Amino acid sequence: MSGFRHEPQPSVTLVSASKDQNFAAAPNGPNLSEALISLDNLRHNLACIRAITGPQCRIMGIVKANAYGHGAAQVTATLETEGVRDFGVANIHEAIELRQEHRMQPDSRLLAFASPLVEHIALYLQHGVEMTVCDHDTVRAAQAIAAADGGRLRVQVKVDTGMGRLGVTPEEATELLELIEASPNLELTGIYTHFAESDKPEGFTARQRERFLAVTGAYEERTGKTVTKHAANSGAIVSMPDARFDMVRPGILLYGCHPDDAAPSPVPVRPVMQFQARVIFVKALPAGASVSYNRTWSAPDPTRIATVSAGYADGFHRTLSNKTRICIGGKSFPQVGTVTMDQTMVNLGNDDSVKVGDTAVLFGWSGPTAGQQAIAAGTISYELLCSVSRRVRRIFV
Ligand SMILES: *Cc1c(COP(=O)(O)O)cnc(C)c1O
Repeated sequence: MSGFRHEPQPSVTLVSASKDQNFAAAPNGPNLSEALISLDNLRHNLACIRAITGPQCRIMGIVKANAYGHGAAQVTATLETEGVRDFGVANIHEAIELRQEHRMQPDSRLLAFASPLVEHIALYLQHGVEMTVCDHDTVRAAQAIAAADGGRLRVQVKVDTGMGRLGVTPEEATELLELIEASPNLELTGIYTHFAESDKPEGFTARQRERFLAVTGAYEERTGKTVTKHAANSGAIVSMPDARFDMVRPGILLYGCHPDDAAPSPVPVRPVMQFQARVIFVKALPAGASVSYNRTWSAPDPTRIATVSAGYADGFHRTLSNKTRICIGGKSFPQVGTVTMDQTMVNLGNDDSVKVGDTAVLFGWSGPTAGQQAIAAGTISYELLCSVSRRVRRIFV
């Protein structure tokens, strides 16, 4: 692969030398793998999204999976500072964890996308989390639990218009909405759906939108009330202006990747995460010497090899073996040999400038992007970001 941008882009936040020294002076010395999280770039990406959606449209910051690996508490706090008041997580456990790690603004709302198990319903009340409902049994159980508690539970109806994952069918939606209205301890705060191929706005996606509007239109007509409607993830924010409705739900765009890694980004978002590790060993190899498990690569000529302190247990996927490049000191080098659990090797050729202790950028603003690495790994940027593991120290810059 060629064409990785390895020059630092002047417009992005770079870690200053003094900050670098602070990391080195940390109690346990320099990190062996770390993810720098640029909250400035996060704010920039939010501004890019607002520039598309306009001021009227609410933005729900999607912070599931620890904010796609970036740190849900810090991302939520930063977005709140910028005026965002709606947040989405995968399930009640993520919601509780976020509530425990970060005291959210009193007027912030937190929605869990998963359809709950009955055993979890009381937790939504206890922690002030909005619940997704897709079926009658859950609505009845929620009403009973909320009534026993003497509280009011905020619920949103998820309509399955074609994603085939969660949601009530459009045909059954009206009955479910009527049941919610007949439940005095439940408050309907939204109706939403999710697109299966949001970067293709025509055809199937357009039909999903129609089905959704049929449900919400019928509800509003029947009750004379308006309800918050939302559908658009990052792909639809970019490609479907007519699907933004009252609120949009950006995830990947906030984190600086385009939903389609192969397409040129139509929005000038910047990477929020830089995933990096250290060179911990440099050696000279004679021609013919092999590197790593299963000897998938051998040096055709005498060469220098750097061993970098991150592997698949840090989130550098093993499927990247022999397929990608890593940046060290602003230069891009081919990765060689099988990626191991804790280390990855890089072919320096005859470059003798790389030294033990140098920073190696696996992806980020001064290396290949997560999207470029995702293509090399045969996956999507989402998966690479989420798989940066707990062993990788997050540093907010
Ligand atoms: C993950 C998710 C999103 C965000 O999707 P992106 O493609 O990252 O923007 C929005 N809505 C729901 C229901 C989701 O699960």
